[in-house]
Amino acid sequence: MPNPRPRAVIDYALARRATLADLSRGRAERQDVCDAHPYLLRAARHHGEPTETACPVCHHAEPLTRVTYVFGDGLGESSGRACATRDFGELAAAYGEITAYVVEVCRHCHWNHLVSSTVYGETRPKVTRRRAVRG
Ligand SMILES: [Zn+2]
Repeated sequence: MPNPRPRAVIDYALARRATLADLSRGRAERQDVCDAHPYLLRAARHHGEPTETACPVCHHAEPLTRVTYVFGDGLGESSGRACATRDFGELAAAYGEITAYVVEVCRHCHWNHLVSSTVYGETRPKVTRRRAVRG
């Protein structure tokens, strides 16, 4: 199933540039920006999708890996799970509104930064239980 049209996209390129500028001016330490959590590194290994973008910090021969996390009320326990971007169509069709956060990670120096967040699908009215009417 093709991906549904995203409803809202936030691009974090400016924040990424600011972080890298801080690093080059000595206002941030390398260990502060190359601090990928072990879970993120594991997700990159198992669910990551290769990019052609070189790491902006270590410029390692292996390009950055992108990991996508999906969140949504309808996802239940799967909310917050890493998944491949091709799954969005099915997820949004089955579970209503989902938000996908894309994180780039360098598996060499552990640089990581949020790339974008995107909302897919429709908000569904929540099923609310009616309170028993007192009589
Ligand atoms: Zn790197």
